[in-house]
Amino acid sequence: MNKLTLEVLTPEKEAVNRQVDSVYLQGTLGRLGILPEHTTLISTLDFGVLELNDGGVREEMLCGTGLVEVADNRVTVLVRSAEAKGDIDVERAKQAMDRARQRRDSKAEDIDMLRAEASLARAVERLRFSGHQ
Ligand code: ATP
Repeated sequence: MNKLTLEVLTPEKEAVNRQVDSVYLQGTLGRLGILPEHTTLISTLDFGVLELNDGGVREEMLCGTGLVEVADNRVTVLVRSAEAKGDIDVERAKQAMDRARQRRDSKAEDIDMLRAEASLARAVERLRFSGHQ
């Protein structure tokens, strides 16, 4: 059975570079499942869980927004961030959550509401993913 080569890149690191059997990603239009021999594809990605399966073992990472390209059994994922469960700093995520809630609930006119909501959603998702909420 053919494999996929999965590469996950952030501005800071190469988070993954390995062979896998399948990959599931949070595409902007819905969940994407990639198996070997998948047709060529480019999609934007939402903040969400990337799941990879290899030899019956499943692993998950929480990825930021970005892009995925699939071509010739290569899956290239370019994202703002990529964290395994153990990478998540729970205190930092709690502080980000409190900060974003305060911004969202403040009556100040210069608050970018969409940005505050997105920041809050990232923090909540990080806490949920790391098992702290
Ligand atoms: P913060 O306000 O705490 O920076 P953020 O949601 O604005 O959070 P991002 O822009 O999503 O952060 O990510 C910036 C970088 O910080 C990425 O490398 C990401 O992996 C890392 N990062 C953000 N929050 C955490 C966290 N709670 N634990 C570990 N790494 C984090």
